Amino acid sequence: MRNADRSVDAVVVGSGPNGLAAAIVIAQTGRKVIVFESADTIGGGCRSGELTLPGFMHDLCSAIHPFGVASPMFRTLPLAQHGLEWIEPPAMLAHPFDDGSAACVYRAVGDTADGLGPDRVAYRSLIEPLIEVWPRIENAVLGPLRWPRHPLALARFGARALQSADRLAHRLFESDAARGLFGGIAAHAMLPLDARPTAGIALVLTLMAHVGGWCLPRGGAQSLANALAGHLRSLGGEIVTASPIRSLDELPRARAVLCDLSPRPLLRLAGDRFPPRFRRALERYQYGMGVFKVDWALEAAIPWQNPDCARAGTVHLGGTLEEIAASEHDAWHGRHPTRPFVLLVQPTLFDPSRAPRGRHVAWTYCHVPHGSSVDMLPRIEQQIERFAPGFRERVIGRAVMRPVDIERHNANLVGGDIGAGMSTVRQRFARPTWRTYSTPVRGLYICSASTPPGPSVHGMCGYFAARRALREVLRD
Ligand SMILES: Cc1cc2nc3c(=O)[nH]c(=O)nc-3n(C[C@H](O)[C@H](O)[C@H](O)COP(=O)(O)OP(=O)(O)OC[C@H]3O[C@@H](n4cnc5c(N)ncnc54)[C@H](O)[C@@H]3O)c2cc1C
Repeated sequence: MRNADRSVDAVVVGSGPNGLAAAIVIAQTGRKVIVFESADTIGGGCRSGELTLPGFMHDLCSAIHPFGVASPMFRTLPLAQHGLEWIEPPAMLAHPFDDGSAACVYRAVGDTADGLGPDRVAYRSLIEPLIEVWPRIENAVLGPLRWPRHPLALARFGARALQSADRLAHRLFESDAARGLFGGIAAHAMLPLDARPTAGIALVLTLMAHVGGWCLPRGGAQSLANALAGHLRSLGGEIVTASPIRSLDELPRARAVLCDLSPRPLLRLAGDRFPPRFRRALERYQYGMGVFKVDWALEAAIPWQNPDCARAGTVHLGGTLEEIAASEHDAWHGRHPTRPFVLLVQPTLFDPSRAPRGRHVAWTYCHVPHGSSVDMLPRIEQQIERFAPGFRERVIGRAVMRPVDIERHNANLVGGDIGAGMSTVRQRFARPTWRTYSTPVRGLYICSASTPPGPSVHGMCGYFAARRALREVLRD
């Protein structure tokens, strides 16, 4: 039967974590939902595969899942029954410095603070009150702009969050260790560190390290996507892979269509249905820096100078706050940093199933200008050698993705922007427009990371989009 001859309650275009989350929310109400995915495998930015050599299982996109563990939606789902097992590394994050020391973030605030010397008290007094209020503000932080249930708690968080990381780090901390650590976490924002709300992004990510942990799924990110898909199917949902949707006319008849797409591919799919004003608003949506990603197959673990790096799920390579800020500033302004800030994960330290016995995989990326095609491999490897001399001798396979390859791999990530759009203050709330999940076309919704609360694997964009569709067009 042709798709167009079928009839369902809802269709989701795209099986990224948000697409799957949206489909689950609808299927939970007993309604018939079908997901179309253009790739041969499900999961979008939450997939794994043998990118280098046979038997070496790499993450194509996401590797560490602070929001996957803490997601108010995923937390409620029986994902363990569908094979998901979270691995919590002994340390969440290590940040080495040139003198051989490393600052670390552990699950326990006290352990983290104790390693920060003169900034022990400052760290505790920054983080502990936020952990205390987190249960009251998580729905506001991980959701669209609404009147908050706990305005005072949110205001306290907002006062710090709506600053730049550079400013907050200099005001609160005195040591290079604490400032560098905070700067590295803030750099996940993919904004210059003197821009708002980089402090907020660093604070939320730091909180996640203490609240649920920066964990990785056993077997790779694909296990999380597979568990979501398994749960969706158990609710009666259907997923069709290798099925790129080029026009809304190709879809089955449905009361709701939810697109796990960022504005650019959405315009290609449905632009002709939108009034000019909405089209223009989507065209104005801003995509940011790109990333240059490298995966390695290694014959042995990375020979870190500082042993804490081998106990951490994530390692940030960039030295001081000033150096990281310069790297992000360069990438933002169209230049390629000589010493790029590098994010690194070596999952096989905690999950040996992902490589042949004794061998390892490593995942990294650095930020580069939007759409860049410059080869950053030598500079990334140089940054690793800086903190792990002898690293290169252990490499037995490499796979590289430039921003253009990233966009080819997933059309949502324009210019290699893995956040599917900048996370500026405006685009945190008006994402992609003030309508957020809705469009002017009745029944047509956006459920991707280009809606609030934005990028990362948490499913909350899909959750809120589906709830809106249920309220507006799937009521009976
Ligand atoms: C290199 C990289 C590293 C990352 N690292 C992390 C990390 O460590 N931790 C983390 O939390 N997040 C990370 N992210 C971000 C995370 O992957 C995304 O924020 C998340 O996947 C967004 O989910 P989504 O469902 O909105 O969209 P996506 O995951 O982008 O899924 C969209 C899906 O729609 C499909 N699609 C697109 N067009 C069509 C069409 N016309 N027809 C049918 N299907 C279509 C795509 O193939 C894709 O499967 C990373 C991303 C990248 C690229």
